[in-house]
Amino acid sequence: MATKLDPHHLVALMNYAFKDKQDGFARRLDPSLHTLKGGIVDNHETNVRTFPILDALAHISVSRKESQVVAIGLQLNSRKKEIRLTVAENKKVTDGLVNHLTKVWRKLQALSCEYEKNRSGRWDKSQPRSPEMPKDVGHSLKIEIFRDIYQYSLEKQMKRIDKWYKGLAHFMKELLRRRVFLDLQGFELSLYEAVVALMLAVEVVSKFHDNPKVQLTESEWELVYLRSILANELVRIVLADRKEFGCEILAQELGDQLSEDPFQLRRALEKLTSLPCHIETLFRFAHSPRLRPALQYRLFTSAVPGMTHTVKLPASPEEWKSFLEVACHKRYDFQKTHAVELAERFGSSKWVCPVHCECGLIQYLRTRQGNEWDHIPPFSYIGVSKLSCSACRIWIEALNEQSGRKFYTRGSHGKWYWPWGIPGADGPLMGVMARKVLDEYLTYLASRKLLRSGSESSGASSDGAEHGLSDDDRKDVVAECAAIVQDRGGSGFGFFDA
Ligand SMILES: [Zn+2]
Repeated sequence: MATKLDPHHLVALMNYAFKDKQDGFARRLDPSLHTLKGGIVDNHETNVRTFPILDALAHISVSRKESQVVAIGLQLNSRKKEIRLTVAENKKVTDGLVNHLTKVWRKLQALSCEYEKNRSGRWDKSQPRSPEMPKDVGHSLKIEIFRDIYQYSLEKQMKRIDKWYKGLAHFMKELLRRRVFLDLQGFELSLYEAVVALMLAVEVVSKFHDNPKVQLTESEWELVYLRSILANELVRIVLADRKEFGCEILAQELGDQLSEDPFQLRRALEKLTSLPCHIETLFRFAHSPRLRPALQYRLFTSAVPGMTHTVKLPASPEEWKSFLEVACHKRYDFQKTHAVELAERFGSSKWVCPVHCECGLIQYLRTRQGNEWDHIPPFSYIGVSKLSCSACRIWIEALNEQSGRKFYTRGSHGKWYWPWGIPGADGPLMGVMARKVLDEYLTYLASRKLLRSGSESSGASSDGAEHGLSDDDRKDVVAECAAIVQDRGGSGFGFFDA
């Protein structure tokens, strides 16, 4: 049953109820439960493997330090051999972003061609894996793509580094204090080597970031590339350790000694390697013979215009109080206090609410735009640069219940943001959305015993690293990183101090 309450008011209410905390409804997409339509090929497994590609494209589109989220949709017209990427942001999509994506795509096309030349008919479609490829195929092209993406996202990447670098160095020093340096083994050795490679990559990039007049040379970019890819490989091993609990066990052990909350080791490693990991996903895309059609087609790009809603919330404690009474179907004592706090939190002015990019994109794709793409069904998976908020999750759920065409994103982080605007103004959808938010609000109240009666990657995997470092390259980078540590005092302490 639908409700007449405005979903915007309910989203603001949830934002008040949960503040910055998660609502307990965080979830990740389970592709085995859904039918996917409109992918690159007519095969569920292969299409599932394209999720990380769309997420990677969205991720590398983020360049600003703060509050930029990007969503990307895909359409294929196999008859005319055309492909379209549709890009949306919470704000307006810039020309710079569209140009960046187009440039990266062209280079991925060139990389795919290099791989194809080297495969030259050796691919047997019945085999699960494509043939081994000499590791040096496309080497300089990969460094170029890596550089273009890194430069475009530099500000965002430096922000991640600012946030996590010091804590990670501190953590590593604590680890070395507790262990005999030369005896590090297995998981801890991989962690140590990963962090050294990561930090040495950052060191080179910082030179360029601190002084934009300094251009890195080709060989410096190659260093950043090799060290980053080595760090990715090692971080994958570290994150998978002990059934994915290795990081937590170690952080717990060291945290006791430091008498503070355990360091978020997993999160630090994931965040610091997120950009190179997504770049590797794109290399894997170019490497895949199954997905090659996508990189052979002619590329079109469209940008979704930014959308906003102007919303007037209840303006006084009295208005909020009657709103809460309607929402709960009854009067409760807590409503009076909540109403006062709500009025204080949101004030009385009008709110300009942006439509979040994933919802704006879906709305755009399901509305006729008056061009040839209206007749091409979009791929039901939407790539997004971060997990969706709860309001977006519910809007997409409501839409999927109401319409024949379904859409999915990677999942939701379970937080409620305000301001948040609903895309379009479909009558029935507004009501269904409101009902769903209200249900979750009532569940929340019940869990807090306020009603007296009734009432999750990133796609990183250790397989498919065909394009990774060659054995020789890996040995060289590892040896070179070790030599630098040696130069700076040998024990590793000097290194992490710097
Ligand atoms: Zn959202």
